[in-house]
Amino acid sequence: MGVENLVIVGSGPAGYTAAIYAARANLNPLLITGFQDGGIPGGQLMTTTHVENFPGFPDGILGPDLMDRMKAQAVRWGTRLIEADAEAIDLCQRPYRITAEGQVFETQSVILATGASANRLGLPSEERFWSRGISACAICDGATPQFRNEPVAVVGGGDSACEEAVYLTKYGSHVHLIVRGDRLRASAAMADRVLANPAITVHWNRQVADAQGNDWLDAILLRDGDAGANEELAVKGLFYAIGHTPNTRLVAGQLELDAKGYLVTLPGRPETSKEGVYAAGDVADAEWRQGITAAGSGCQAALAAERWLSHHQLAVTVSREPVDPQEVGEPIRTAVSDEVNFDANALWQKGSYALRKLYHDSNKPLLVVYTSPTCGPCHVLKPQLKRVLDELGGAAQGVEIDIEADQEIALQAGVTGTPTVQLFFNKELKETFRGVKPRSTFKAAIESLIGVPA
Ligand code: NDP
Repeated sequence: MGVENLVIVGSGPAGYTAAIYAARANLNPLLITGFQDGGIPGGQLMTTTHVENFPGFPDGILGPDLMDRMKAQAVRWGTRLIEADAEAIDLCQRPYRITAEGQVFETQSVILATGASANRLGLPSEERFWSRGISACAICDGATPQFRNEPVAVVGGGDSACEEAVYLTKYGSHVHLIVRGDRLRASAAMADRVLANPAITVHWNRQVADAQGNDWLDAILLRDGDAGANEELAVKGLFYAIGHTPNTRLVAGQLELDAKGYLVTLPGRPETSKEGVYAAGDVADAEWRQGITAAGSGCQAALAAERWLSHHQLAVTVSREPVDPQEVGEPIRTAVSDEVNFDANALWQKGSYALRKLYHDSNKPLLVVYTSPTCGPCHVLKPQLKRVLDELGGAAQGVEIDIEADQEIALQAGVTGTPTVQLFFNKELKETFRGVKPRSTFKAAIESLIGVPA
């Protein structure tokens, strides 16, 4: 394999914008999207609902839809994607070496756009109630049946916490916002929305000390300042929105980091402490952290990489067809199956009718994926599952269940968050997968049922 011009690591607004610019500069960039390490592909916008401040969308746009569009734009102009985590980054000498999916990619230049991961509180009972009441993503898990018409809590005082609190009023009977200080850090528009909402109570100067319950969270303990006594608050859900930590683990010791672990760059510029290595987005930004600022810095990083590559005559550019690449168009949505359009042989269908029919009549392994409408990780997982089914050439089938539309089914299936995938074979539940898992996990599970040797 030859040496790449540019490898971009990370697929939030910074990574995809860098890819769009680099691809249009004929640099034939390779983008390693990341998969589980440090969040999900698409980054933090995949776990938000309406983005109302990204220019160009006067009525707002859902975070996952915005990221789908950026991805499609990057791919349309020729970006090659590796949909996996970067496993190692070696910046000791050029060409730099990046390992993903077991392959080593050599590259002249690198753009690090690995973003930042959601923090956890580290409560004594956190592990016990993780996915059993405690969640890091209200937008993914809020629609699950256990939270319906029950009191829930969000901890944090930033835009994420406020957005999640408002979102959860759709499902919970009441939302408690636990703020450790005496003010909200969120933007004025978001804070006003929370303070004006009668379904939200803000608890000022409170820290969450621990969680209680049996099989599921029943209450949290709140402490008033450091010295105060614990008070109990009955809730069925506790959602974390307490900020993020930059994803710099793979380059620690190789590049200059600041005291909080963010990549250090030249002031106002994307250059890191190594030649040909650039940073873009939240991995180098402790201050602005907006989708639009990340996108802007991705553009800067790509332009800087392009100039550096051409200055050192390192770029091997590709030649472009004289006609523009085909337009992407609007995504095709799967219709819910009914008596009329159900297809016993289709690889992928949607809804309870298809689930019932295939569960009873199909003799193939059946992947059932439980999703909710705003769940970004579901967005990431569905194409991966479809690809597995395609690769298996019809040996297995898939059904998507929207847990908001089919609450009863979600309850019966014991779904506690989305995405959840259940693998059935001959009417028996064989395995349950919670959250985003790599394609290879699902493929191996199906192949073991149909007798394909590993
Ligand atoms: P922030 O860092 O802005 O806020 C984190 C919040 O968590 C702060 O209120 C902080 O408290 C609190 N916190 C941190 N640690 C603890 C702890 N251990 N216990 C209790 N509380 C804690 O993160 P966000 O995720 O909210 O936002 C990140 C960025 O994304 C921001 O720039 C934000 O503007 C942006 N964003 C924009 C959105 C939009 O425009 N639609 C939506 C969501 C995010 P304290 O204030 O006391 O430090």
